[in-house]
Amino acid sequence: MKGRTHAGMGVITFLSIYKFLPGGFDYFGILVVLFASVFPDIDHPKSIVNKYILPFKNKMTKVTLYGCIGIILLWYDYLYLDKPIIKALGIGFIVIAVSSHRGGLTHSLMGMSIFSFIVGYLGNMYNIHHLVYYFMIGYGMHLVCDMFTNMGVPLFYPFRKKKVKFPFTYRTNSKIGSAIEQLLMMGGLLFTIYKIPVIFYK
Ligand SMILES: [Zn+2]
Repeated sequence: MKGRTHAGMGVITFLSIYKFLPGGFDYFGILVVLFASVFPDIDHPKSIVNKYILPFKNKMTKVTLYGCIGIILLWYDYLYLDKPIIKALGIGFIVIAVSSHRGGLTHSLMGMSIFSFIVGYLGNMYNIHHLVYYFMIGYGMHLVCDMFTNMGVPLFYPFRKKKVKFPFTYRTNSKIGSAIEQLLMMGGLLFTIYKIPVIFYK
């Protein structure tokens, strides 16, 4: 599924359910949802997130860059800091480095838990208590959306490697797949326009 479809679906979900969230509507929240919606594809060197991070869009660069950041963080923490958040961040980067696209941790509930823990911890540190909810909406919707594609996701990785998907799926790069994604985006755009007055007069 394309990055922009993920981003669109994340925002639509947020606009549909923000009333039930403890923080309600929040512009910052939309940004976090947007980021979290595309974040799981950080395991793919050519994805929308890595477009702005990796100097070269290939697997070697991805593994080396994220692996090094992770090791440096863990090492620095071991020598000087001894803080759980730095350990968690270091592990997070290593998870990104070793996850093969759609085959590993970033597309699993385990990965979602690890990254939500990091985000929740950061949220508490900086007194942004709703941060983790926004993050989980975006991340969770990404996994749900990918379950509609024929590749599925390894939801229970590393306990079970089997890819999980819905009974009705489509091929991401097929004509029908692109048409479905375009239709979703158009529907989403209409829904967002419909929601704009509600947002302004919350
Ligand atoms: Zn994905």
